[in-house]
Formats: sequence, C-alpha cells, structure tokens
Amino acid sequence: MRLQGKVAVITGGASGIGRATVLKFIQEGAKVVIADMNLTQAEAVAVEVDSLGFPGAAVAVRTDVSAYGDVEAAVALAVETFGRLDVIFNNAGIAGGKALLDHDPEVDYAPMIRVDQDGVYYGILAAGRQFRDQGTGGVIISTSSIYGEQAAELSFTYSAAKAAVISFTRSAAYELAEFGIRAVAITPGRVGTAIINQFSEELRTTFASEQLRNKMTEPDEIANVVAFLASDESNVINGTVVHVDDGYSSFKQRLD
Ligand code: NAD
Repeated sequence: MRLQGKVAVITGGASGIGRATVLKFIQEGAKVVIADMNLTQAEAVAVEVDSLGFPGAAVAVRTDVSAYGDVEAAVALAVETFGRLDVIFNNAGIAGGKALLDHDPEVDYAPMIRVDQDGVYYGILAAGRQFRDQGTGGVIISTSSIYGEQAAELSFTYSAAKAAVISFTRSAAYELAEFGIRAVAITPGRVGTAIINQFSEELRTTFASEQLRNKMTEPDEIANVVAFLASDESNVINGTVVHVDDGYSSFKQRLD
C-alpha cells in the first residue's frame, strides 16, 4: 500500500499503460481520476476498479489533454471528489507518422504536437498550480518514449513531442522544487498496447527482438515502475528520465 491516501490523475487511463497504472495505483491504496478522450472505455475501467473490491476509488472523466480547460477540470474533479491531488501521470498519447517530406503540416505535425506535447505541458501546469496551492508538494510523471531520445523512421513529429516531454520534466523539476514538487519522465520501449497492436505480426516480432529479453513489455510492468515513482520511496529521483525499455536504448544489434 505504498500509495495509501494519495490521489492521482492519470491521463490516457482508459487503455494500455494508463489502464494498467490505474489498476496498480488502486491496489496500492490510491484514489484515481481516469482522464481520457474515450469516456466509455474510461468508465469501463472505473467499473473494473469497483469490481476488484475498491468501490468508488476511481472516477472517469472525458478529457482531451490538448485542451487546457479539460486538464484543469480533471485536476479540479480530483480535488472535489477525493479532497486533494498528489500525483499526475501525463500519459495520454497518440503515435504514428509519415516520412518528413510527405508531411501535410496541418495533419502530420500540429495535431500530434497538441496531444503528445501540449497535453503534457497542460498537465504539468494544472497539477503544478494545484500542488502549490495545497502546499503539499506532489509528483509529476510523464510518458516520453525511446523515440524522445532517438531519431526513428516515420517519427519526426512523435520524436519531437517526446523529446519535449523530457525537457519539460527537467525544467519543471527545476522550477517547482521550491514547492516540494518532483518531476520524472519515463521512456517505454515496446509495450503490448493498442498503439503497437495496430502493426503487423511480423513487425511486432521485430519490435520484441529489439528488447533484451526478446519480448514485448507488458503494460503492468510499466505500471509497477510508475507506482514506485509516484511513491515517497523514489523521492531522490527528480528531473530525470527513467528508461523502462528492457535494454532497448542500451544495445544496437544481435549477432544471431
Ligand atoms: P493506448 O492507445 O493503449 O492508450 C492511449 C490512451 O490515450 C487511450 O486510452 C486514448 O483514448 C488516450 N488518448 C489519446 N488521445 C487523447 C487525448 N487527446 N486526450 C486524452 N486521452 C487521449 O497506448 P499506450 O501504449 O498505453 O500509450 C500510452 C503512452 O505511452 C503514450 O503517450 C505513448 O506515446 C507512450 N508510449 C507507448 C509505447 C508502446 O510501445 N506502447 C512506447 C513508448 C511510449
């Protein structure tokens, strides 16, 4: 119960890494606002939480992280429903992309930046203000990606947004330390979620081989790390990146 008494907003909590983190946080004693574009799926996760024996421990709200007002409203809902906010997990994101010279900027740049980059900025801002006003400190965890530190095929915009998440994390940790607020970014590698499952089986096999244990990461393996980062046990991890990529970023090629 390392998150006993803590209240969290988890964006993108209806699916994949976000959903696994909602379930982990609840099991560790937290209360959670599931903030997701997909309200039906977010509500289904809240029902799942009830059925696991934690009635009312999670509430769902339709949130588009690319709108500051929506993110502010999710933070306000946490305070109204559970009395405070201790953690925000800025995790909602979209993936995909085209070769740079095929870009239509209106389609292939701006919309993804609005979700993957602006959405994290809004989460940091809204939660940071709440933590300051509460005077309690808080933790900001944001989902970057291995692509935030590397160039990759068809990922010009995604890589830019995910690099910004790392930069935001460093700056937020620096600026908000005086309020007792920590900020950490995570960089998942290949996680078996909807984002990855849209690709062919052949490509998914290749993705798995890019990690040292030759398997795709499960969402709950990421959730375990996020729960640790949200807890007081990790209080010296601040303004930095935690690689949750099963070695992806540490090796180049297998010889077999
Ligand atoms: P997912 O598609 O299962 O979950 C993403 C969730 O975000 C969905 O519930 C979706 O409804 C929500 N969402 C999308 N746009 C939104 C918006 N504008 N406002 C609010 N919610 C929105 O995918 P996932 O793999 O769990 O992705 C979670 C995060 O992890 C993303 O930021 C993604 O970029 C990152 N990531 C994933 C992988 C991977 O291999 N799966 C690797 C690196 C990073």
